[in-house]
Amino acid sequence: MRLTKSTDIALRIAMRLAVLGNKDDAPTTREVASAVEVPYTHAAKVVSKLQHLGAVEARRGRGGGLTLTAAGRTGSLGELVRELEGVDDVVGCEDDPPCPLRGGCRLRGALRAAQEAFYASLDPLSIADLVESPTGPILLSLTSRPGD
Ligand code: SF4
Repeated sequence: MRLTKSTDIALRIAMRLAVLGNKDDAPTTREVASAVEVPYTHAAKVVSKLQHLGAVEARRGRGGGLTLTAAGRTGSLGELVRELEGVDDVVGCEDDPPCPLRGGCRLRGALRAAQEAFYASLDPLSIADLVESPTGPILLSLTSRPGD
């Protein structure tokens, strides 16, 4: 099983925001994108989704920037990843052409159970847990390149 690039970027951005706290100098999307080394346009879409999910707040204007909300910091990681990934099966049973076994496939059921077990293993964790050492100090050491 492989997460989408967008989900990985969203988690990277959330972790970076978690270590910056709620300082007055909250970073812009461009600064966070540069620090975690993802393209700005992709980061902007992901930040918009994190805002929609209530995990990130964006304040505009002077002194504005991105902050992780309390829900984003301590909410269930499994729930967040489910929301980011959507509800698709891990295989394309209904693709075009659809698989002829889809009406009664035991493999499909087994894969759905495995997928849920994957998310369930993330449920007890939060973004706050992910930024404990050694990850937190690494995240804090990242810098934004001017002009990015
Ligand atoms: S074999 Fe089963 S799991 Fe695989 S595509 Fe067909 S219906 Fe889906």
